[in-house]
Formats: sequence, structure tokens, C-alpha cells
Amino acid sequence: MDIYCKHCGEPWDVYELHDMLDDQGELLSFENARRAFYELGCGAWQNPGSKCANAPICGADRLEGISELQELLGEDVDGLASMSEDVLPLTDPDAGSDDWRDRYPVLGAFARERDK
Ligand SMILES: [Zn+2]
Repeated sequence: MDIYCKHCGEPWDVYELHDMLDDQGELLSFENARRAFYELGCGAWQNPGSKCANAPICGADRLEGISELQELLGEDVDGLASMSEDVLPLTDPDAGSDDWRDRYPVLGAFARERDK
């Protein structure tokens, strides 16, 4: 199952978190790899210690959804991978509302519940 870079939208297999090195070439624990990925995205693997600098492969709404989902699910990476496939369409849905939570109804409901 895949998790997605919040900076560019690139998918990464969850298991790659087990093979992440820090900027000294040392293997990170799974939890530290997760934290690095949530913060740096692809950069965590491609240029350890630096944020992803790749051009986005999807729209801004999807990137916002990816970021929101990481924040909501925190250390539940398996949940993140599972929910990403369910709630994040690969292309931005048609507008119809200026509020992304309306365009991603399942994820939007979680965000609204959290923000209460
Ligand atoms: Zn990226």
C-alpha cells in the first residue's frame, strides 16, 4: 500500500519506511522515518534532511488532502495507506465548493470532527 508525499503527491510504498537512512547514512527507526517522511516527503529518501523539491504531480487540493490525512492519522501509517486509497481521488474533484472539505467528503468529515 502506498503513502503520498504531501509536497509533490508522489506515492511511496509503506515498507520503504523500513529502509530510510538519515543524513549520516544511519538507518532510521520506523517511527523516525515516518516523522521524517511526514515533514520532508520524498526528500526524506532522496536528499535526507531536506524537504521534497520535486514538481507536484497532482493538484493543490490533493496535496492538502494528503497533508490533512497525515495529520489526522499520525503514527497509524497502515491506516494512512488504507485511507489514502479510499478518500483521496487521483485527480482533484470538480470544484463546486471553495472548501476542500466539501470536495473530499469522507476526509472532510474527519477534519470537521477534529476541528470541533
Ligand atoms: Zn515529493
